[in-house]
Amino acid sequence: MTKRLNSFVTSANSRDTEFPLNNLPYGVFSQGDHTRCGVAIGDFVLDVAALENQGLIDLGQPLLQSAAWNPVMDAGSDIWDQLRALLIALLSEGSADQGAVEAALYPLAEVQLLMPFTVTEFTDFYAGKNHAINVGTMFRGAENALPPNWLHIPIGYNGRASSVVVSGTDIYRPSGQLKGPDDTLPKFAPSKRFDIELEMGAIVGRPSSDRVSVDQADEMIFGYVILNDWSARDIQAWEYQPLGPFQSKATATTISPWIVTKAALEPFRCETPERDFELLPHLKDTGPMLYDIDLSVTIAPKGSDASEVVRTNYKEMYYSAAQQLAHHTSAGCAMRVGDLLGSGTISGATKESRGSFLELSWGGNEPFTLDTGETRSFIEDFDTLTLQGFAQGSDFKIGFGECTGMLLPAK
Ligand code: MN
Repeated sequence: MTKRLNSFVTSANSRDTEFPLNNLPYGVFSQGDHTRCGVAIGDFVLDVAALENQGLIDLGQPLLQSAAWNPVMDAGSDIWDQLRALLIALLSEGSADQGAVEAALYPLAEVQLLMPFTVTEFTDFYAGKNHAINVGTMFRGAENALPPNWLHIPIGYNGRASSVVVSGTDIYRPSGQLKGPDDTLPKFAPSKRFDIELEMGAIVGRPSSDRVSVDQADEMIFGYVILNDWSARDIQAWEYQPLGPFQSKATATTISPWIVTKAALEPFRCETPERDFELLPHLKDTGPMLYDIDLSVTIAPKGSDASEVVRTNYKEMYYSAAQQLAHHTSAGCAMRVGDLLGSGTISGATKESRGSFLELSWGGNEPFTLDTGETRSFIEDFDTLTLQGFAQGSDFKIGFGECTGMLLPAK
């Protein structure tokens, strides 16, 4: 079992910090007038742009001077490894450069976190089996819950990069075309069934121009974020046939502020579940490509404490991000650096592990109770939703920071 690596930053050596030396997630922060790339360590963010300017980080060319991690991704996986090794050396206990590194640390509590990378494209999948069964049962009945293709291909749709926002961004309740079961005609009105989807996002760090294998796809992935695919269920129910979701998913998708690299998650790889059907050769598992990441969702009504309403794990997925990416390229689609792939809603088999309100309240028919005594079927105005995730090591954990957003009334 991998042990915790110790840093001279003492807050990074706690069992409870999300950001030990083993993690080193990549973000973008602003403090005063400056916006730049940073790396989280304990209770601090390290200004890596400053260290590159001083020559303490030398990657052969300046890669840390823009307020996004795309140039590092674009430089290739040898640079990814080189940067991680440099950061571990600079921040380790006994680092020869402790003084200079300390001068580039800012308390996390005093900075603002921004989008960590430029999202070039966004695709969202539907690859959680329990979620697909739950939603399919509600929409089409238990007999037809899983569409016939579901066990053979990771189903997805092309989303909008422009809709992706960083944690902390306020979300406005969308309006759209709604048609209830008793309405003869649709109307344009604020969504009454606005929801979350608890997902992981995989970030493509290497481009491709042709079909790639599952192994090549895994090598192309730079890192992962927590992702909330905000969804308007009433807009979705009316619009989704036959081309899938459109405006119901267009309001916003929130990501956590920190990109946790594939390297940091390496000790937590795990197998995909048993297959009902053998996958076709281009999608077959070639090794453990899911990750054991505990996930949770809390909701805090305005002025109230947060209640935890979901607890699940990324290992519940039926398809890994590498399989989704391989499938994405299978008809010749080119992938770009900064492509973001949403996993699909992650639900476990139990009621508490369902990753959306649609499932938790069973289509709104079974409202659930918060710690405050209030009930919810869907999100109400001024509710704050917070998604979190961490991989648990023997004496450390690897976290992503909060993926949070408050819902404001419709404009
Ligand atoms: Mn989704």
